[in-house]
Amino acid sequence: MPEGYVLDKPLSLSCPECGGVLRPEQRAGIRQFRCHIGHVLSAETVLVAQFHLLEKKLASVMALLNERAELCQQLAEDARNGGERPSAFEAAAREALARAEIIKRLLEEEWIQPLGDLTGEPPAR
Ligand SMILES: [Zn+2]
Repeated sequence: MPEGYVLDKPLSLSCPECGGVLRPEQRAGIRQFRCHIGHVLSAETVLVAQFHLLEKKLASVMALLNERAELCQQLAEDARNGGERPSAFEAAAREALARAEIIKRLLEEEWIQPLGDLTGEPPAR
């Protein structure tokens, strides 16, 4: 495990269509991006797609933490049935559920949507 994560400036953005590297372009003064297999996207399209991907990945992490908790609970039960102390599995299950709650809050909280609420409403002032 790394000593500590950092938030360096990304060298490039990722194409929401294929995951490839996006190259920035200016067309008639408008910022857009082109990936190496030809997807051409406006900055606004990338911003919205990036947010949907973010929600999907957070939900995936939440589901994985929930599954970790379930597996640890099953292993704790096996340990109890085998006459062993299940405390490490129970602690890991509680930890996974607590961390899943953190992700759940991230998913449920309002996010600033600079282009509006993604349903066509104008942005909040
Ligand atoms: Zn692409």
